[in-house]
Amino acid sequence: MSEKPIFSSPGPAWRASVLTLFTDAFPGVLGASIIGGAQKSGIWALETVDIRDFSVNRHRTVDSPPTGGGPGMVLKPDVAAKAIDSVVSNDRPLIYLTPRGKPLTQTRVRELAQGPGLIVFCGRFEGLDQRVIESRQMEEISIGDYVLAGGEVAAQVLIEACVRLLPGVLGDAQSASEESFEDGLLEYPLYTKPREFEDRAIPEVLLSGDHKKIAEWRRQKSIEITKARRPDMWQAYENGDGHERD
Ligand code: SAM
Repeated sequence: MSEKPIFSSPGPAWRASVLTLFTDAFPGVLGASIIGGAQKSGIWALETVDIRDFSVNRHRTVDSPPTGGGPGMVLKPDVAAKAIDSVVSNDRPLIYLTPRGKPLTQTRVRELAQGPGLIVFCGRFEGLDQRVIESRQMEEISIGDYVLAGGEVAAQVLIEACVRLLPGVLGDAQSASEESFEDGLLEYPLYTKPREFEDRAIPEVLLSGDHKKIAEWRRQKSIEITKARRPDMWQAYENGDGHERD
């Protein structure tokens, strides 16, 4: 059974409600490290809602075969709609995680982190009946061009990406601003002690103490890496098309 909805009362400013058939999968990685610590200190809150609790069927059925034929099963719209409607929205965007959604970007993550939180619907089987996606105006988001067994891992990816940007979560204010995507380029290579590791030395410039030269070297490396690994991103950067591919 899912916990009782907790978001009808005042609480942390940023809230994530996750609708899932596998409430046991949460908090998962969201309970660990800085993200879990931020939840404990009240910066954000997590609510899970068991979709199966909204089946009126004696067998607690949530799925049925695709109309028109084809493999697998489809999540029923009536059950999904009841689960969605049980959540207190507080103007939070309702997101359906699906491989056919718009690819998730750091720009969208930043926007979501600045809002009141998220309501995330985790699909299973072949996915969710189209009518509930339309009637509840769900925003369809993909976390990448591959297919997972369900939306739970994707929900944790999305929530973690947002929570780490909430004020007070990252210790060093610098660490988010210098990362990959923040200026439209991938991050430069990182080094730390010892000076020599398995016959590999730290590049001299990083030991020079010359901050201008270090910044120039890092920028050059960011450009090389972005050109080699993400020609799409490099193109967008050169065209001045904002911070990243959207
Ligand atoms: N039949 C679907 C298709 O071809 O697009 C794949 C369904 S997948 C097996 C089951 C669920 O996993 C989806 O409804 C979605 O919630 C989740 N999922 C799988 N891959 C995902 C991805 N790349 N991004 C976001 N969610 C994903």
